[in-house]
Amino acid sequence: MGAGMSSTLPLFARRARISEYVRARLRPEDRRRGPVVPKELEGLDLSRSFAPNDQRIPVPSPDEMMSILARMGKLKPEDELNCGACGYDTCREHATAIHPRPGGKRDVPAVHD
Ligand code: SF4
Repeated sequence: MGAGMSSTLPLFARRARISEYVRARLRPEDRRRGPVVPKELEGLDLSRSFAPNDQRIPVPSPDEMMSILARMGKLKPEDELNCGACGYDTCREHATAIHPRPGGKRDVPAVHD
């Protein structure tokens, strides 16, 4: 909102008043012609394309889970403290995040490596 503009009206009412002002001052030939596109923008391709990029974290198989937990030093169920200090609610959630993704990347480094 510019200096000197009243703020007593709601935004949409102020916007409507500006639109009415512009419509009232449009010349008839401008109304017939419609929106004007500058020459340098004619034919400009504004289309976009998107490719799928699956970001789901793959769930490790039971054997992979046991292998990751073993690398984390969790060889028995009692070793899974589920303390949350790593930022995951459970040790298995942490192990799932450590599990390599198809591209060979891991979500996070292993705290217990
Ligand atoms: S993996 Fe995470 S939740 Fe499990 S013991 Fe280590 S810090 Fe705690």
